[in-house]
Amino acid sequence: MKITDKLQQHKEGSPKPTFSFEYFVPKTTQGVQNLYDRMDRMYQSSLPQFIDITWNAGGNASKLSQSSTELVSTAQSVLGLETCMHLTCTNMPREQIDDALKEAYDSGCQNILALRGDPPAGPASSGDDNCEWEQCAGGFRYARDLVKYIRDSYGDHFAIGVAAYPEGHPEEPSDELNMRYLKEKVDAGATFLITQMFYDAQNFVEWCKAVRDYGIDVPIIPGIMPITTYAAFLRRAQWGNINIPQHFLDKLDPIKDDDELVRQFGTDLVVEMCQRVLNSGYVSHLHLYTMNLEKAPLIILDKLGLLPTEQDFTNDPVSLLPWRKSL
Ligand code: FAD
Repeated sequence: MKITDKLQQHKEGSPKPTFSFEYFVPKTTQGVQNLYDRMDRMYQSSLPQFIDITWNAGGNASKLSQSSTELVSTAQSVLGLETCMHLTCTNMPREQIDDALKEAYDSGCQNILALRGDPPAGPASSGDDNCEWEQCAGGFRYARDLVKYIRDSYGDHFAIGVAAYPEGHPEEPSDELNMRYLKEKVDAGATFLITQMFYDAQNFVEWCKAVRDYGIDVPIIPGIMPITTYAAFLRRAQWGNINIPQHFLDKLDPIKDDDELVRQFGTDLVVEMCQRVLNSGYVSHLHLYTMNLEKAPLIILDKLGLLPTEQDFTNDPVSLLPWRKSL
């Protein structure tokens, strides 16, 4: 089922916000098996609306034991999870894009997050000057072009999401241009937005208003990054050029060497941020970047009161499938 239809259906039945989980492809076969087990456990305990699988940065999947498409196919057709496949333009000849879309289609997947992709050298904000990349012959330059290609090739089969940047894209300093390019992606056929991680709730809410004022009316799904260690928190914020509000630093800097305290205080800060974002009325769904970890996202959802009740389990068609019980 398309993510957009799922979200709409839920909204009509319940005011309770929903959520989803992002995973990346592990490097080893054992890692992949562990991830399937984790996805299944997380599904059983929390009933996310969907999960998504990232596409390896720069399109270079040769170092992975499985491709994103294999993971998507297993999650969708074997585990029965509503799955969204990320698909990028960098290092992707047209043929490879066609193969990936066909595999997703054949597995029953109906959701694609269409991206330009990180350049092979990493994001512009990483300080690496070599973030220039060559467009493949017959490939695509911008996510907008990939969105249009998917729409032209598959009509309405896929819900197509695109990336959005509440604090701007590291390669483009102009807010006006960032907004224009976002609108171009939606005009090309995108039906939902997933945002870059952020910690500044006030800025996010103002950006949502600007998105709506600009005439972009598809669902906005905020990307939420749990805080696990102080070093990872700073590194990821720096990677994405993400503003860290002063009250995050005031709370976390004095305890930066105590991982357990950083996790506890960091979780409370992220929970408070999510609450503000949900209260704004612009969003009704949270997308958690799990980094393939189980506990951190589930604790956030628990503290927000979003984990399911007995009744939710009874109403969930996937959790009731007889073969799931034997997994
Ligand atoms: P685009 O929207 O194409 O933008 C790329 C750059 O081109 C921007 O600087 C933009 O300002 C500029 N631009 C856009 N349109 C035009 C135009 N018409 N004319 C001139 N300039 C233009 N990366 C991965 O490699 N794999 C993943 O799985 C992945 N998942 C992600 C998930 C989310 C939710 C997000 C937010 C990002 C993800 N990324 C992923 C990172 C993303 O690929 C990078 O941020 C990338 O630099 C931009 O991708 P985009 O799809 O936003 O590109």
